[in-house]
Amino acid sequence: CGIVGVTGTKQSVSVLIEGLERLEYRGYDSAGIYVNDQTGNDYLVKRVGRISNLKNALTDDIAGTAGIGHTRWATHGVPSEVNAHPQFSADERFYLVHNGVIENFEQLKQEYLADVNFVSQTDTEVIAQLIDRFVVDYKMDTQSAFLKVLHLINDDSSYAFVLMDRETPDTLYVAKNKSPLLVGIGDGFNLVASDAVAMLKQTHTFMEIQDKEVVIVKPDKVTIHDFEGNEMKRDTFRVDMDA
Ligand code: GLU
Repeated sequence: CGIVGVTGTKQSVSVLIEGLERLEYRGYDSAGIYVNDQTGNDYLVKRVGRISNLKNALTDDIAGTAGIGHTRWATHGVPSEVNAHPQFSADERFYLVHNGVIENFEQLKQEYLADVNFVSQTDTEVIAQLIDRFVVDYKMDTQSAFLKVLHLINDDSSYAFVLMDRETPDTLYVAKNKSPLLVGIGDGFNLVASDAVAMLKQTHTFMEIQDKEVVIVKPDKVTIHDFEGNEMKRDTFRVDMDA
């Protein structure tokens, strides 16, 4: 029920864990992080229960300057390590955190992924596998595949998504519909989270995301497009509050 992501010059693990702790008030049954060190190593750690369980599972070798974290409030599939997020595609290329519910996930699964073995019971895994299908089998680039999948998700669905691709490990692919998510602007790094409080230790400058936009967050750049592909201009705003 909470999301945090970061990319740039900061070591991401502590940023993600602190961010998730700030989002605990939203409620959750499990938590997880995915971190990529930009030189081919990546790490996925998930635990049921408190964030302290996740913290206890972290070892010193787990490091990287880009990552995503999630606290889950189960809607599809029991609370378990397998169902916790980040969810990932079978080839372990795409990692996805999601808050909300994909109402038409069964139809999408039947139509496009009948041959795929799913490891979790979540609606979220279907989206991760579907993005992979369009990239790997239909040769789309990741941003186009992400947009394609966003178009296939029906309007009743709610989501805040942050996607990472092992092939573009410094990039966060972001979108929302009816679930909260905003961007935090740093100096040499950028963030995304469900609530500004999760980012206040890192920055006081934020950028709003509207429903049905695709936001590409890189260490030094944030670009926003609507679902028709038009680039959107967005001002930043300050929140003068202490972490
Ligand atoms: N529907 C997703 C799941 O059950 C996300 C739940 C959430 O918002 O945390 O895994």
